[in-house]
Amino acid sequence: MALIVKKFGGTSVGDVERIKNVAERIVRTKKDGNDVVVVVSAMGKTTDQLIGLAKQINQRPKEREMDMLMSTGEQISAALLAMAIDSLGVEAISFNGPQVGILTDSSHTKAKILDIEGDRILEQVRKGRVVIVTGFQGRDEKDNITTLGRGGSDTSAVAIAAALKADQCEIYTDVDGVFTADPRVVKGARKLDKISFDEMLELASLGAKVMQSRSIEFAKKFGVTIHVRSSFHDGVGTIIAEEANEMEAPVVRGVTSNIDEAKVTILGVPDRPGIAAEVFKKISEANINIDMIIQNVGEKDTTDISFTVDKSDLDRLKDIMDSVKESVSAKRVTYDNEIGKVSIVGVGMKSHSGIAYKMFRVLADKKINIQMISTSEIKISVVVEENKADEAVNALHTAFELDKDVIYEAKL
Ligand code: ADP
Ligand code: ASP
Ligand code: MG
Repeated sequence: MALIVKKFGGTSVGDVERIKNVAERIVRTKKDGNDVVVVVSAMGKTTDQLIGLAKQINQRPKEREMDMLMSTGEQISAALLAMAIDSLGVEAISFNGPQVGILTDSSHTKAKILDIEGDRILEQVRKGRVVIVTGFQGRDEKDNITTLGRGGSDTSAVAIAAALKADQCEIYTDVDGVFTADPRVVKGARKLDKISFDEMLELASLGAKVMQSRSIEFAKKFGVTIHVRSSFHDGVGTIIAEEANEMEAPVVRGVTSNIDEAKVTILGVPDRPGIAAEVFKKISEANINIDMIIQNVGEKDTTDISFTVDKSDLDRLKDIMDSVKESVSAKRVTYDNEIGKVSIVGVGMKSHSGIAYKMFRVLADKKINIQMISTSEIKISVVVEENKADEAVNALHTAFELDKDVIYEAKL
């Protein structure tokens, strides 16, 4: 008998019919003799709708209240799924995250899981019940409800699998697995049989929203192998696991893009030691994450600094930048909402040269201008105009032959 954690995403529990299908699937696994713990997301676009409601009432709602609001979506699907399983003659019980002791820090809307008291779940599992837990949420030390950031149910599932030492962790979604690129953007995208934690972590943090990136950090830390698969059929999906010693790892495993960031440029800041620290101190105190940073070569004694942040942080950031501008005597701050970050990812890059050149060449041939660049051992990212992002992803997918079965050989 195995203990299996299954997570179902929003589309997979999007309506009554789908909830019934998911229930049948769970009952089958249970009747095969397994223990099952289920993590669910909110139905369909519920979370977006809740956010929309809040914005109609208050443009800058308190994040604590956003968490109170957003966490309700998962409670609906959890209860309905428990009822659906019950009606098939199998006992099920639903809980929200706080009830089963999912303890987080207090960073509302992007809280981090600190600990999970697995006892309450296990107690119910031992009674033979299917346990349904709401994804995406927990409670902080003062019993405030917190949420884990968009896509956070993936992280709930992996963290629960780790805490319960589950035998399997399955993520059911609306595509067949992890692809070489978003299959909705690139027609020739191919499903990967397996992908390493490191590559998946990069892809996820760079925009491939099939898995929340924090879920992969958890999986890597606790050695949880993940199976990403379709909730619509029984086919095998993609295994995310520790990197196997692949002799012929492809140079590029996948291409992804992210249009959820904005570029901020602070112009005419004095070019002297301590200025960058001053600029970023206030931003970090506000718990706003910065992604790419570049400092341009300035004129005379001043310079320009550009960086990217999540669009969702932009309103708060603008207030902070007003005071930063004063305190460092900068000339001006500009904001560009229409950027797209396009990235190629692959462990094979470690041992190949000329990959950056090829990427830039491909974009140049398409007349796509590169605004910022950042690299690591296993990825290269560039910022381009937002409306060129899909074209760039497609061009790179083709150029690195990800649509083909053969492995791309770096040749110059
Ligand atoms: P869920 O609601 O099940 O959590 P999400 O919408 O969060 O599903 O994630 C699944 C979506 O991720 C897919 O519908 C697909 O469009 C998108 N996606 C982006 N990049 C990839 C990729 N490389 N492989 C698979 N899906 C991807
Ligand atoms: N419902 C949440 C969201 O839409 C969490 C999730 O789906 O994983 O972001
Ligand atoms: Mg998701």
